Amino acid sequence: MRIVLLGPPGAGKGTYAERIKVLEGIPHIASGDILREEVKKGTELGKKAQAYMERGELVPDELVEEMIAERLKSPEAERGFILDGFPRNIPQAEWLDKFLNGEGVKLDGVFQILVPEEEIVRRLSGRRICRQCGAIYNIHTGIPRFPREDGRCAECGGELYQREDDNPEVIRRRFKEYEEQTAPLIDYYRKRGCLFEVNGTRGVENAVEEIIRLAKGGERE
Ligand code: AMP
Repeated sequence: MRIVLLGPPGAGKGTYAERIKVLEGIPHIASGDILREEVKKGTELGKKAQAYMERGELVPDELVEEMIAERLKSPEAERGFILDGFPRNIPQAEWLDKFLNGEGVKLDGVFQILVPEEEIVRRLSGRRICRQCGAIYNIHTGIPRFPREDGRCAECGGELYQREDDNPEVIRRRFKEYEEQTAPLIDYYRKRGCLFEVNGTRGVENAVEEIIRLAKGGERE
């Protein structure tokens, strides 16, 4: 199963992808997570990407494409993948088409996760991440879950932190960037007949079930 999840920051793409990964046994390839990891490790790519990320701007296409190609070619992605955060604009989508063509495979679906803007703001401002194990929490919505009672990680007891770019000013910039650059992708994939809309407010299990059913060629409920 080869799928792409589209939606503004905070739509739940990461949460859905982690569920699908477990259910289908395919890797979750999240460009933002990989880039943050590269920054943390201080690699060449990380050094180049850092300033763009701190400003809430997109990292140049060539850098991200090279990084994604490496993941898509890895043996674990042979049976499929869930792309999350990539492609982010039309040039990246065209690059992906070309790449997959070259591998003789195609996408089973591109899923646009729909969530109202006010809900996104509420979700993002409540997001917390464990510094130790990376588990994700939300102090407002409890999705995927609430932190432990003492405010620490329920998995490992680690300290939770808020992402630099989950502050209101950067959230707004990322929204604008999403609308300007990513929304045209919706037309791009609709024209190719592989776009599906998914309601992102009906709970994680419902959305995940629907995505898997549609990706396998099933009918909409
Ligand atoms: P995310 O975790 O998806 O919100 O991504 C965090 C940041 O990483 C973004 O604000 C961008 O600076 C960068 N980034 C992630 N994915 C891409 C991409 N496909 N193209 C360019 N920049 C990206």
